[in-house]
Order: sequence, then structure tokens, then C-alpha cells
Amino acid sequence: MIKREQLYEGKAKKVFMTDDPELLIVSYKDDATAFNGLKKGTIVGKGVINNRMSNLLMQMLEKAGVPTHFVEELNDRETVVKKVSIVPLEVIIRNIAAGSFSKRFGVPEGVVFERPTIEFSYKNDELGDPLMNSYHALALKLATEEEIETIKRYAFKVNEELKKFWLECGVTLVDFKLEFGRLKDGTIVLADEISPDTSRLWDVKTGEKLDKDRFRRDMGGVEDAYAEVMKRLMENI
Ligand code: ADP
Ligand code: UDP
Repeated sequence: MIKREQLYEGKAKKVFMTDDPELLIVSYKDDATAFNGLKKGTIVGKGVINNRMSNLLMQMLEKAGVPTHFVEELNDRETVVKKVSIVPLEVIIRNIAAGSFSKRFGVPEGVVFERPTIEFSYKNDELGDPLMNSYHALALKLATEEEIETIKRYAFKVNEELKKFWLECGVTLVDFKLEFGRLKDGTIVLADEISPDTSRLWDVKTGEKLDKDRFRRDMGGVEDAYAEVMKRLMENI
């Protein structure tokens, strides 16, 4: 695998072309941002943790029947993935009220839902990733009806698998964001990452936050929280 020119530098990762037009290399950085890039910082060691964690979780999901972009971990920070055309939707699943849900609907953080919820945001930094429903996504031709159905089915399946696994680690899966993409033949696969950057993870016993909210809310102990969830994952995978 030969790494070629950089295609893109995002807030948390760099993306490189390879000698294979269907494969990319993603490189995880320690850079952290929040509030649509307004807050910037570094979480030392985050890139290494997110790379490993995302890869292990994607391999678990693949076994459970959810196709993913994962191909091969190259080193601490770099992974080969299948190149997709990203469906510009942030797909958010929630099991417990927190963050923007609590703010928008005036519900205290921690209220447990009887059934998980799903929502979409338009992945568009200039517009600040506005919330949208599936009819808006169809009107803007971001995805077809069939693709949206597939994405919903996979997203709930991911939730069931991850909820079960994190519970075994003594971690409550509160909510998370997924991105999906299309392979060359149109197949929908799970892409991007699954990590404490993109999930809310609370200690089952103490309720302690073990995710990016520690950075967003200046709570301290950010690096320790990422290391703790990674340790628990490694003990239970
Ligand atoms: P952002 O773009 O939000 O700053 P990142 O720093 O994580 O996010 O950058 C990674 C970029 O790569 C994102 O735009 C993401 O949608 C995209 N991406 C993730 N997986 C793939 C893939 N398999 N193929 C193509 N693009 C991908
Ligand atoms: N999330 C994400 N990227 C985003 C927005 C949200 O990974 O651009 C994740 C976030 O980490 C949380 C879930 O999606 O696990 C729900 O986030 P929420 O809508 O509550 O937004 P926030 O409070 O992060 O603004």
C-alpha cells in the first residue's frame, strides 16, 4: 500500500489517496474541536485511541452484519479504508437525553428513553450542521428513500450491538453519531469513525463522563477518560 497525496484535512483526521483508486488511508490527529470549530484544543494520545477503537468496533459490527469501510490498520494512527462517497448526513442515535436534545426539548440530561431515537443533521459546516428530517434529505437529493431506509436499519443495529458491548465494559452508551457512504457500486457502508469523540459514554456505576464532553465542558481529565474507555474495551473485546 503506497500513501499518495493528501485529499483532505478535517478537524480530527487527514485523508490520503493510495495507489489503489478504491482505497484511502485515514490518519487520526490529536486535534479536538467543539461547537462547530469555535473551541480548539489537543487531547494527547486521542488519535491513537480513536484509530484503534474505531477499527475494533467496526470489525465487531462487520461480524454482526453491518458492512463498514474498514480494511486494515496500518499503524497507531493510520488505517486503510474503502473509499466512499459520503452521504452528507450525520446520523445520531440516542438512548438517553443529553447535549443538544436536552437543550432543544428542555429535558434534563440522563432521562432514559423507552425506545432509541434517530435524527439527521445536514453535514455542512457553513450552515452549522442543521437538523433535518428524511423528507428534507429526499428533497435535497442527499440520499434516496431506499438508502435512507438502509441507513436507519444499520444505525439501529449498530446501537443494539454497541449498547450491549459497552454495557459489558461497565459503560452506558448515551448517544452517538454515524456517517455512511456509498461504494463505487452504490452499496451503503458505515464510514468515518466510532470513538469517544463521536459518542457519549458514561460510567455505569458513577455516571462519570468518559467522552469528549469533558473537553467541550472544560471538565479536565480528558486524556484519562479516553484511556479508561480504551482500557475497558481492550479487556472485553
Ligand atoms: P470533518 O470533515 O468533520 O472535520 P474529520 O476530521 O474526521 O471530519 O475528517 C474525515 C473526513 O473523511 C470526513 O469528512 C468524513 O466524512 C470523511 N470520510 C470518512 N470515511 C471516509 C471514507 N471511507 N471515504 C471517504 N471519505 C471518508
Ligand atoms: N456528534 C458528533 N459530531 C457532531 C455532532 C454530534 O460526533 O458534529 C455526536 C456527539 O459526540 C454526541 C452525539 O453526536 O455523542 C449527539 O450530539 P448532540 O446532538 O447532543 O450535540 P452536541 O451536544 O455535541 O452539540
